[in-house]
Amino acid sequence: MEKQSDLISDGARLPVVEEFFSLQGEGYHTGKAAYFIRLGGCDIGCNWCDSRFSWNPNLHPTVETKAIIDRVIESGADSVVVTGGEPLMWTLDILCNGLKNKNISTFIETSGAYPLSGRWDWICLSPKRNMPPVTEICKVADELKVIVQNENDFEWAEKYHGMVSGECRLYLQPEWSRFESIIPEIVEYIKKNPTWRISLQAHKYMHIP
Ligand code: SF4
Repeated sequence: MEKQSDLISDGARLPVVEEFFSLQGEGYHTGKAAYFIRLGGCDIGCNWCDSRFSWNPNLHPTVETKAIIDRVIESGADSVVVTGGEPLMWTLDILCNGLKNKNISTFIETSGAYPLSGRWDWICLSPKRNMPPVTEICKVADELKVIVQNENDFEWAEKYHGMVSGECRLYLQPEWSRFESIIPEIVEYIKKNPTWRISLQAHKYMHIP
């Protein structure tokens, strides 16, 4: 009989914090309906993290990946956003293969700090200062979303702009608690650097998860 730890390491079970069918609130796919799977576990420790409840994977029961896929199918969603926590702490091949077999599109939101697993239709890379992304993920990212806390973050955003492909969409997103003070600076920056777009956390205005 397989041990629980083996089932987790091959992705047959995953620690799920929450699952919900909602609208994407951030980045390129803002407004699109999707089934969200938030996985537990993150050791990156961003000081402004609004998902701290997800950090300790031991607080979230592991769930059979097949059961997650069944719930996505039951929901009727045509796409899934896997988020966290840092979802790439886990092996996501079984999850993605099961979803792709049902023609469900797979999107991931990741810091890129861990090696890529799974098959993805859309990779949103949101690099974090505490643990930089692996180069391999920068090269294949479809979207670069940089959270801006202060003016130093623009130069940092450009560093990753230089590491992603020419097709990668570029977003600056105000850190929620600094929204009022940083928005004018983001607006001015994008006016001068129009390859960037702004990403607002639209779900927070709609009071949806
Ligand atoms: Fe929070 Fe994401 Fe940073 Fe992890 S990578 S600490 S989940 S913001």
